[in-house]
Amino acid sequence: MYRYRLMAPGPTPVPDSVLLKMAQPIIHHRTAAFEKIVEKVREGLKWLYQTENEVLMFASSGTGAMEASVVNLMRKGDRALCIDGGKFGERWADICQAYGIEYDVIKVEWGSAVDPKVVEAKLKEKQYRTVFTTASETSTGVLHPIEELAKLTRDLPETALVVDGITALGVTDIPTDKWGIDVLVSGSQKALMLPPGLSFASLSKKAIAFSEKSDLPKFYFDFRQELKSIQQNTTAWTPAVSLIVGLEEVLRLMKEEGLENIFKRHDILAKATRAAVQAMSLKLYAPEAPSPAVTAVYSPENINAGEIVKGLRDQFNMTITGGQAQAKGKIFRIGHIGYYDPMDIVNAIAAIESILIQKGHDVKAGLGVGAALEVISKN
Ligand SMILES: *Cc1c(COP(=O)(O)O)cnc(C)c1O
Repeated sequence: MYRYRLMAPGPTPVPDSVLLKMAQPIIHHRTAAFEKIVEKVREGLKWLYQTENEVLMFASSGTGAMEASVVNLMRKGDRALCIDGGKFGERWADICQAYGIEYDVIKVEWGSAVDPKVVEAKLKEKQYRTVFTTASETSTGVLHPIEELAKLTRDLPETALVVDGITALGVTDIPTDKWGIDVLVSGSQKALMLPPGLSFASLSKKAIAFSEKSDLPKFYFDFRQELKSIQQNTTAWTPAVSLIVGLEEVLRLMKEEGLENIFKRHDILAKATRAAVQAMSLKLYAPEAPSPAVTAVYSPENINAGEIVKGLRDQFNMTITGGQAQAKGKIFRIGHIGYYDPMDIVNAIAAIESILIQKGHDVKAGLGVGAALEVISKN
């Protein structure tokens, strides 16, 4: 019997103390006891987001808060600018399309980060109501330059910046207010170390003003309604009670560790992973702007990446993920977002080494593990 090891870029493992909290008998949500929990969570989310503004919660996967951002910021006839450098960036355009919103797309080569100059030129060319982008593109393992993008929009009164921060918030420093991000979207099942089912969206003053003017159809995902509710430490509809109870504990754990230490830990995990795969003569998929949440790696030429994923599953009961769409079969992705420590990386690298050697990749056993240990020991 092998212990299950979940090393995917979401869902991610949940700490034991969080699981225990969530296993408690359910309480009613229209009670003083639950409002107290929401009050704590509300304050904790502001801390995590580094914002003075409110952070809304929805009972949905991350895509729900993405969709909510589109329908609450845009008006009929407005134009959106979508930055698409992977499966998640593409989703912004898909949502705009579903609502009949006019949009332009900046296509970014997979494995690369967007060039802010290209965005700047677009913003000079046309009037865009909102720029939709991704911070950490989980499908390619790229970290996009959000601070630079926010500089382009924060002084434009008629253009907002919406960032999918689902694998960035709680991983790397992405200060919502300081940078001037209007909506930062997140989800429960990545850095927040919870099961899937909660999504989040912070709202700047500009985002609130836009939501007051938006006339696109919406009901459950109405920012105005949820904003009113959260200000009273409640939610408009029945919340995901158990997940919110778990979130209170997650935020307690995160505060105990501290933001700086959380960022540092993820940085070490990512650096150790990158050093290890390179020591095994593998190439990084996103060498220029690697995400601290997930490392995407080219499989050796003669080995389909799917075989590595399958080998880890069958032999070691370990889950990593393969590539999506155009990267399918070519890359595998190791998640190191959330509840992981350096020894989890050593474990994953050792298992990957073993599979690679079995598949005939020419590498001496221990090279990857050794490189990971060197990074870990120096930090
Ligand atoms: C996981 C993820 C999402 C959310 O997807 P859901 O399946 O709806 O939770 C969105 N964006 C990024 C970058 C992600 O990694």
